[in-house]
Amino acid sequence: MSEVGDLIVKFQKNEHKITGLLDVDTVADLKNAIYKATSVLPERQKLLGFKIKGNQLTDDLILSSLKLKPNSKIMLIGSTEDELAKVAEPPSDIPEVINDFDIEEEEIAIESREEFLSKVERRVKEYKIKILNDPRPGKKLLVLDIDYTLFDHRSVAENVVELMRPYLHEFLASAYADYDIVIWSATGMKWIETKMKGLGVEGNPNYKISFYLDSDAMISVHTPKYGVIEVKPLGVIWGKFNQWSAKNTIMFDDIRRNFIMNPQSGLKIRPFKKAHFNRNTDTELLELAKYLTDIAELDDFTVLCHKKWERYNKHKHSKPSRSNVDKSTGEKSSEDKT
Ligand code: MG
Repeated sequence: MSEVGDLIVKFQKNEHKITGLLDVDTVADLKNAIYKATSVLPERQKLLGFKIKGNQLTDDLILSSLKLKPNSKIMLIGSTEDELAKVAEPPSDIPEVINDFDIEEEEIAIESREEFLSKVERRVKEYKIKILNDPRPGKKLLVLDIDYTLFDHRSVAENVVELMRPYLHEFLASAYADYDIVIWSATGMKWIETKMKGLGVEGNPNYKISFYLDSDAMISVHTPKYGVIEVKPLGVIWGKFNQWSAKNTIMFDDIRRNFIMNPQSGLKIRPFKKAHFNRNTDTELLELAKYLTDIAELDDFTVLCHKKWERYNKHKHSKPSRSNVDKSTGEKSSEDKT
């Protein structure tokens, strides 16, 4: 039994030194130590920067198995209880964690895609979905991000409705005709519920949301371009619901890398920022509603290239042709790539 050297935990813009842990201590002990340093509760901590292969960072892992070097840097994503208490009071000020990576100098093993898929499987098994409204037979699936997609979470306002993207309710009501709707945000469930209530999405008489997914349903992957990132694999939903697949699912997000595990199903929307300046002119959701309606008649979304959604021609696709799709890979031909 010996001491693990000092560890550096990077949280938001600060670095915290964690000392005194033993190699027989567990990840749970580490999380408690991090809690004392940062006020982020263990269950809200997401830790990145370990060189563990395959398995997730479970609480019962012994620290010696992580092969930590003294002064290893760990990145913490999470919210303090103070911040959570403020969630109901706009403006919400969630740390913009998504670009908060400066641990790239750390050597993080490049994991194989197999390992990412096993992480997805694990989410399918372990992540509990609370169904708000039962999926309806025959409906396609629309998965929506919140921040900068439906809502400008960074601007200052008297209440959340001022920061709502224009036509949000019209968009959701229109989509609901053909799609069951799922909200997936890289924040915690409490934030999601609060925002959806505040925006009047929850309990809206004109449409229903099937369920919410939060950051715990995401997985971390390593890519050469971005380093370690948290992403939203649709496989988590597809593994739980047989009726949905790449053929009938579409996902909107303002960050393309969120759908890195299923790029063909993702549509990168323009972010909605500076609500006070843009709320009289932003018509993205109106136009996207039309696109969703137009493609809803297709049996197979994998023939689509969502990057070109604004130029989608309903008539061209009304008899879906697969001639421009390479059947062996399912990849679009070069003509279709942008
Ligand atoms: Mg977003």
